[in-house]
Amino acid sequence: MNILITGAGRGLGYELATEALKRGHGVIAGVRRPDQDQTALSQLAATYGEKLTVAQLDVTDEEGIAALAAKLQGQDRTLGAIINNAAVLTARDTQIEELDFQDMLTTMDINLYGPMRVVKHFLPLLTEPELSIINISSEAGSITNAYSGDYPYSISKTALNMFSQQLHVYLKERGVQVLGVHPGWMHTDMGGAEAPTNPTQSAEGIMDLIEKRTTPEGQFMFVDYTGKDMKI
Ligand code: NDP
Repeated sequence: MNILITGAGRGLGYELATEALKRGHGVIAGVRRPDQDQTALSQLAATYGEKLTVAQLDVTDEEGIAALAAKLQGQDRTLGAIINNAAVLTARDTQIEELDFQDMLTTMDINLYGPMRVVKHFLPLLTEPELSIINISSEAGSITNAYSGDYPYSISKTALNMFSQQLHVYLKERGVQVLGVHPGWMHTDMGGAEAPTNPTQSAEGIMDLIEKRTTPEGQFMFVDYTGKDMKI
């Protein structure tokens, strides 16, 4: 299977690329600045050769996304899975009185419109026998467990869950598994040093979800990286 991963230069995205390659899949690793993200990814390229394609992909740049999708399609490349992983966490712990709407706009542009742009342009490449779209969400997007603060991030992830659910409805007859996945509180730049979950562990769980294709038990397609239902 070939898998497109956004934000693949560090954190969970990098671990997902590594885990997918270890399992024998082909990876298109989308990174904002390929020149700066070379160090880690060039080690993977040295080990996995042509199985890894590093591509410039900023999820806010619709023209760039469309051009990359068209280029890969022109090379007869196909996909089995898209993992929308890239995201930002801005205005952490800021309350509504202090909220800067530029943070709202930037966060929605990356965390919500980013996955929507990627799916819009890469859907025609999803032609392999077993298909998945994984939108990396967060428990911060759960309405049931809402907390005050992190407005841009939480709201962007709640809306991303809606996008996942709508895609699920739209694509189920084509056999596409669509999941919004909470990857756990992970030890990454975003999650911080005290986070209990290793992103390698999350990447393994997410790759299992893609390979095993077990339908979640709940009505909503929002699960954690072990496949357990999350509260919407
Ligand atoms: P990091 O902050 O460590 O990495 C974020 C990644 O997103 C980087 O590769 C970054 O690239 C990329 N990115 C940001 N903006 C853009 C953009 N405009 N275009 C393309 N790529 C972009 O985050 P994590 O690895 O921790 O998080 C991965 C996913 O998991 C996210 O969706 C996050 O919301 C989710 N999550 C994380 C949790 C945690 O505890 N860490 C908890 C719950 C969910 P660059 O290097 O160029 O900045």
